[in-house]
Amino acid sequence: MKNTEKYRTVIEPFKIKSVEPIRMTTRQERENILAQAGLNPFMIKSQDVIIDFLTDSGTSAMSAAQWGAIMVGDEAYAGARSFYRFQEKVQDIFGFPIVIPTHQGRAAEKILFSTICGPGKFVPNNTHFDTTRANVEFAGATAVDCLTEEGKDPSLITPFKGNMDLEKLEAVIRERGAENIPVVMLTVTNNSGGGQPVSMKNIRGVSELCRKYDIPFFFDACRFAENAYFIKLREPGYASKTPLEIAREMFSYADGCTMSAKKDALVNMGGFIALRNEEWAQQFRNILIITEGFPTYGGLSGRDLEAIAQGLDEVLDEDYLHYRIISTAYLADHIAELGVPILQPPGGHAVYVDAKAMCPHIPIEQYPGQAIVCGLYLEGGVRAVEIGSVMFGTYDESGKLIPAPLELVRLAIPRRVYTQSHMDYVVEVFEELVRNRDALRGVRIVKEAPVLRHFTAQFEYV
Ligand SMILES: *Cc1c(COP(=O)(O)O)cnc(C)c1O
Repeated sequence: MKNTEKYRTVIEPFKIKSVEPIRMTTRQERENILAQAGLNPFMIKSQDVIIDFLTDSGTSAMSAAQWGAIMVGDEAYAGARSFYRFQEKVQDIFGFPIVIPTHQGRAAEKILFSTICGPGKFVPNNTHFDTTRANVEFAGATAVDCLTEEGKDPSLITPFKGNMDLEKLEAVIRERGAENIPVVMLTVTNNSGGGQPVSMKNIRGVSELCRKYDIPFFFDACRFAENAYFIKLREPGYASKTPLEIAREMFSYADGCTMSAKKDALVNMGGFIALRNEEWAQQFRNILIITEGFPTYGGLSGRDLEAIAQGLDEVLDEDYLHYRIISTAYLADHIAELGVPILQPPGGHAVYVDAKAMCPHIPIEQYPGQAIVCGLYLEGGVRAVEIGSVMFGTYDESGKLIPAPLELVRLAIPRRVYTQSHMDYVVEVFEELVRNRDALRGVRIVKEAPVLRHFTAQFEYV
């Protein structure tokens, strides 16, 4: 019995039969590498990274069963067997009858929003992920975030900080007019809000509002399994349900979803749209054929579709989800114990460090998050990413920085890739960093691109 059994150490619920070596580097080497990269970890080669926490997207380890499925992929242009296996699996879990594969999540978003959005339209979401917002805006519409106030307080500990603020959502619908809202989106878990989950009660509430105003309701479903497990752990009435049952109930309240399979389908590439509305599906397939491919492969190989179908099964395994959520919390709790201020409670896929609180001696204009990112790499070859004023900062007319609301460092955890001793190593790196935090130095930007500057910016120490 999983729920009554008392675990000691939560071990990785898998054995390793294929390994990828990590190249160890010395501090001296890392100093040269970081300087060469202009103090920007996006510019570092992965072979020079010891623990890579840059993203959880497309970085999952596939199982033996997934690699096996890859060998039986049917690469027929039309009507491939692999498509039908994929379609059946998505229908079984998500409950939407129509399934359209795409090469990744943003391709699904592009097809959805370019069909239903345009100038004068508004799309509410708990928090838009950056590619979602970009696709809404590229289609001429306005993206509106309606996150619950709880989700905006980094230190507040409540169970569902990813919830939609239902009053705010209804106010937006009334103000803008239901006819100008082609879809309401709900992101599970709320990636840009720290990977925080959404409760079933809130999902039901969003669904009821959408019915009341006759607006379609779609999920951004990237981390649906992690969200389902948080519901099981935290929401009354769900403790004895399986993650599959919970996922089915979540999607039963909606009209469709977009999905990046690079997250909770445990593959390195892929995505899909699933929905109930055949009229929309016809329009989606028209664009799909121009930009992605024929509707039974949509920009993916048959073998990719096989791996997704298999991954969707594995991701709902309770032992896997238990390990996944506990191992993220393990890292979070251990670095919090060292006095590192983190966003609470830890989300499903990542741990966020509050850089402003950790390095009060570094002014915002000297990017404390980037200073910590550099420190993590120098100290232990750990690659993280700044999510603060480097990523979201802008300038006023006089060239003065308008900072982001929060200065965070994100440690995103790839699925099934690292073991507890890797996590212990990262905790030790933090221990050293905390001990020498006064030595962390601010940086200035010496070169930047006009948009999405964080990818390519070059820095130097102040
Ligand atoms: C990753 C992600 C996307 C985009 O998916 P890609 O596969 O990277 O294109 C959309 N929404 C959320 C919440 C995501 O995390």
